[in-house]
Amino acid sequence: MRNASTATATTGIADGKTPYRGRFAPSPTGPLHFGSLVAAVASYAQALHSAGEWLVRIEDIDPTREAPGAADSILRTLDAHGFRYPEPLYQSSRLETYDAVIERLLTDHQAYPCSCSRRELRNSARSGRAGIIYPGHCRNGADTRKRPATAVRLRTDGANVSFVDALQGPQYCDVEKEIGDFLLRRGDGFVAYQLAVAFDDAEQQISEVVRGTDLLDSTFMQSLVLEKLGLTPPAYAHFPVVLGADNHKLSKQTGAPEVDNNSPNINLLRALSFLLQEPPEALLTAPVARIWEWTTEHWDITRLEGVQSRSERSIMVQ
Ligand code: GLU
Ligand code: ZN
Repeated sequence: MRNASTATATTGIADGKTPYRGRFAPSPTGPLHFGSLVAAVASYAQALHSAGEWLVRIEDIDPTREAPGAADSILRTLDAHGFRYPEPLYQSSRLETYDAVIERLLTDHQAYPCSCSRRELRNSARSGRAGIIYPGHCRNGADTRKRPATAVRLRTDGANVSFVDALQGPQYCDVEKEIGDFLLRRGDGFVAYQLAVAFDDAEQQISEVVRGTDLLDSTFMQSLVLEKLGLTPPAYAHFPVVLGADNHKLSKQTGAPEVDNNSPNINLLRALSFLLQEPPEALLTAPVARIWEWTTEHWDITRLEGVQSRSERSIMVQ
């Protein structure tokens, strides 16, 4: 039994009292494809139905994966589909803030510098729920004779995270055993997604994160980061990811086509049908704003309870 060092993070402030605030957080690695349109629709519909706010956050913290013009193209697609949102937040404008957060975790001994190379880890580490489980080489001081310690990892000793996902039910993870000390800053110096996304969800006071089940395991890391910072994690709802014809998640990497801005009604109805909402066919020829009125009134996220993935082929739009 570990006592003093055991951290247990609990998520969730969807108590009906906190004002609802949702978000869509695309990475600008390419134009919007159908899978990411579904993520935008699900989070927006949930915010509309909850009479809440919906924010767009451009997660442009990884220049090595960024496609020129992708952020603008994503925003144009949202506009063409009738999404309304305040000025988006660009994570690239917040790098100094993330540096300060990492600095604070280092000072508090919740994080430590790491000098291990990817190749070293590939050879010595086991795989867990979220890639390799870091074997802890640098926990008690990084060896910097061969390489500078440019990465930073979160100390996960004894950390358990549990939360109840609104759609996927109770979730539990022994983070040290199943994930390991994960990266807050990567070896190449860029801030890691887990740190930036967790901090911004808290700082923007997001009350509920609605996103695909491919990010379910990330939630353990994000909740733990917030717990270590003394911040409250949002509530979470992970909806089924869209599988392409090959039964793999639709993605830019596997060449999912760009959403066509000239057919917003068809695209939105396909997305709503994928999300099991049964939109009426008459909406195909209605103004786009009508689709969002219908969605505000009829959206029912509970139809997705327990559904982890769905094939694109099962979408019916007459
Ligand atoms: N930027 C991430 C992505 O495009 C999503 C982040 C999130 O919703 O937490 O996959
Ligand atoms: Zn290391």
